[in-house]
Amino acid sequence: MNYFIEVIIPLSLPKTFTYKVSQSEFTFIKKGMRIAVPFGKSKMYSAVVVDLHQNAPTRYEAKEIHQILDEKPIVNEFQINHWFWISSYYMCHIGDVYRGALPSALLLESETIISHNKEAFVDETQLSDDEFLVYEALQQQSSLKVQDIADILNKKTILPILQKLINKNIISLQEEIQEEYKPKLIRYIRLHEKYLVQDKLVELLDSLKSEKRKNLVLQYFQLTAQDQKPISLKQLTEAAQSSAAIVKALVDKEIFEVYFIQEDRVNFEKNKVDNELLLSTAQQEAFDAIEKSFVVKDVSLLHGVTSSGKTEIYTKLIEKYIDKGKQVLYLLPEIALTTQLVSRLTAHFGNKVAVFHSKYSNNERVEVWNNVIQNSQSAQIVIGARSAIFLPFNNLGLIIVDEEHETTFKQQDPAPRYHARDAAIVLANTHQAKVLLGSATPSIETYYNASSGKFGLITLTERFGKVQMPAIELVDLKDNYFRKKMKGHFSTTLIDEITEAFANVEQVILFQKRRGFSPVLECMPCGNVPQCPQCDVSLTYHKFKNQLRCHYCGYAMAKPTNCHVCSSADLETKGFGTEQIELELAELFPQRNIKRMDQDTTRGKYSFEKIIDGFKNREIDILVGTQMLAKGLDFDNVSLVGIMNADTMLYHPDFRAFERSYQMMTQVAGRSGRAEKRGKVIIQTYNPMHNVIQQVTNNDYAGMYNEQLYERKIYYYPPFYRLIRVTLKHRDFEKLKEGSMWLYQVLQHNLTIPVLGPEEPAIGRIRNEYIRTIMIKMPLETSVKGTKKTIQKILNSFDLVSQYRAIKVTVNVDFY
Ligand code: ADP
Ligand code: ZN
Ligand code: ZN
Repeated sequence: MNYFIEVIIPLSLPKTFTYKVSQSEFTFIKKGMRIAVPFGKSKMYSAVVVDLHQNAPTRYEAKEIHQILDEKPIVNEFQINHWFWISSYYMCHIGDVYRGALPSALLLESETIISHNKEAFVDETQLSDDEFLVYEALQQQSSLKVQDIADILNKKTILPILQKLINKNIISLQEEIQEEYKPKLIRYIRLHEKYLVQDKLVELLDSLKSEKRKNLVLQYFQLTAQDQKPISLKQLTEAAQSSAAIVKALVDKEIFEVYFIQEDRVNFEKNKVDNELLLSTAQQEAFDAIEKSFVVKDVSLLHGVTSSGKTEIYTKLIEKYIDKGKQVLYLLPEIALTTQLVSRLTAHFGNKVAVFHSKYSNNERVEVWNNVIQNSQSAQIVIGARSAIFLPFNNLGLIIVDEEHETTFKQQDPAPRYHARDAAIVLANTHQAKVLLGSATPSIETYYNASSGKFGLITLTERFGKVQMPAIELVDLKDNYFRKKMKGHFSTTLIDEITEAFANVEQVILFQKRRGFSPVLECMPCGNVPQCPQCDVSLTYHKFKNQLRCHYCGYAMAKPTNCHVCSSADLETKGFGTEQIELELAELFPQRNIKRMDQDTTRGKYSFEKIIDGFKNREIDILVGTQMLAKGLDFDNVSLVGIMNADTMLYHPDFRAFERSYQMMTQVAGRSGRAEKRGKVIIQTYNPMHNVIQQVTNNDYAGMYNEQLYERKIYYYPPFYRLIRVTLKHRDFEKLKEGSMWLYQVLQHNLTIPVLGPEEPAIGRIRNEYIRTIMIKMPLETSVKGTKKTIQKILNSFDLVSQYRAIKVTVNVDFY
């Protein structure tokens, strides 16, 4: 009898591969375990098992596996099925999905090196035989490979042993590709056992000459008396207002002992405050309506105006599901938002909340992964950005997609190019879990699904505390420039309103879509605008660094003093961005603390949180920012929001430009007036009569929706058509042109649906590669699977044309 396993290898490959296993391995191995397998010439990868069978592959001789990496599956069948769905729906390789889904620390490779952790104190009696063998081997050699250790132990399943040694802090992994997974160990202090007898204690206290040491020991007793919990070094030094050095002196004298307890890196128990959540009448009605809707619909949309208190409704709902022992996934568009949400949710749920995001280290991510797969209490509620849909949930009850309209839910690069909201709906379906989408400005597709009855729809039109919606005032820029009522980019109306807000000790938010000081530098005599040498875009001027930068490839150069074309020194900046607004503000309001929030000021791990905290604590008077400001932040003292220029958003070459402008402006406006007082919004625009501007002003979501839906219908766009974009890239302009024409013609010939292009996108060259796109529009009634199959076949044949092989082709399904 032959036994085989089917695995996914973490490389961009479209297929699964078959490997040979022994009968005993066959009975041990389960779907979802990782197996080290040889692939290619001499490389080793951690593949994941997706099937076990007895059918030898027909096209190649199955190789034997190298070793089994897990004792238990680290991926479950829900996930495996979901990966295959993603691969087929988003037309990407299953290997890409696997690689994108797992934290990289779990993708062990042959190069993984194990070394002895020299600082560790090792109690040899606590080691198992295998652990001891590894420990001993590492005394002789400073480092070993995974394979060496397998040989020493003569075993295939060595990863669990390594994991135990890692947990005991005895070994660490040195990775070329990844950081090691090291659980965080907390230093605890206890009294040496010889002092556990009563009279020894008195002796001890008498023997201590130094006041500081005596104080420390007394504090220790007080703390142990207060709560019968282990006392950490930190806790003790803080309570005694002492230093670690004094503790160490007592440890050296064998009065105290140090020991370690592993702690999850992220601990929220301290945040918990037990307050019963009371919903307002409107919130309660919405909550009841959601529950009712969930009886008949798996997905429901909560369309609640900004500041209607959607988070509280989610919280109440989450409570229901975790009381039933279910897992809950809470998806956010932007990791930057987690800080506020985490503090709100942990106040209610304490340590049941886990956070999963890309700014976390590998260790932290593996920790959350393990907690989720073990269905542990500490990860009953997972908050995360889009990649959190890949966590190993096995008992999912509810998914919340907050700010469901946000574009960041869609992964653009690299593959898998999935939309987390849509993928979450599919995932929930396999778990028979419910999905609640929430937004003040739902995407057209979602609202269409909700109004056509596919999703449930719950509407909440009133703000929490009956706060009024902000009053929106339009300022006509043309008229104001004409009447000379402008100072720089500020109308006198806006300046007056800011002044008034400050007089009332209130805060202000200003929104400007573009970052940088001023988008471009223009030569006055010849009109030349410096371009990126690698991309077809103008360079953006950044005043602070006195640089011109490319926002597409990161290219930067010092600001030139003369035009490179005509040598004139008469160079002027055109347009404006957040940096210039910040500077103009500093001149208008020199006494005020002004801060800017955009991609340039929020790169570090906590830089965003610092700005938000500063603003929340009212250390900052006025915040200038880009779209980051539009994403659900909650401030209680902002009475004025200014939108510097509404038009930059409207004239974007994109079928969603109007929808997005509406969403952006409404969301930014929603930051105003969140406490008792009605807020104010000033929108500066050249087009005060534009439909979208009017819809924002009148809070007319329905008006915007109906108008956009009509346009979508007559111009063949979603939700009536599904769009697939094929992008071709190559350094040789002619070859690209020829290749994309070939592909276009074959697609056009073989499909009975609209194929458009090949088009040169707005930015036709990035990093020296020319770009062409082809768009395929699929009417809803066409078979999605069939059409995608045809497209895939054509793409495969394109790959076989030798002169086009070097052209890079990517497919993006639902790219918008
Ligand atoms: P949304 O997400 O709908 O814009 P939020 O959930 O941020 O609104 O709520 C707006 C504000 O109202 C927040 O400061 C929140 O703490 C407060 N709030 C909402 N509901 C309640 C409630 N039931 N009890 C107390 N405060 C609430
Ligand atoms: Zn560039
Ligand atoms: Zn010039």
